[in-house]
Amino acid sequence: MKLVYTHPSNIVVAQARASLELAGIKCGLRNEYAAGAMGELAPIDVWPELWVLRDRDYERAALLLAQSHAEIQEEDWHCPHCGSQSPATFELCWHCAGDRSPGNNPHGA
Ligand SMILES: [Zn+2]
Repeated sequence: MKLVYTHPSNIVVAQARASLELAGIKCGLRNEYAAGAMGELAPIDVWPELWVLRDRDYERAALLLAQSHAEIQEEDWHCPHCGSQSPATFELCWHCAGDRSPGNNPHGA
């Protein structure tokens, strides 16, 4: 078993667990009752912990969690095709509908 994620909120750890299980990664919680049932934060030494049951899943799990974090914290991006700024939640440029990654120009450049 490997510790892959910890956070003072039960809810956040439970969400992380759900996204890993969705990806077929078996995991378990520790200290899940340390935090209050009403979403209170646990003291730092007893944060709820998320463990992957198989060590070989660890890297994939860490990557998945890093990606889901990145989505939340992502900042505005600049369109590689027209230079317009779009919010992080947009997959396509609001201005020219171009893809975020330079390799996928919808106009076939
Ligand atoms: Zn654009």
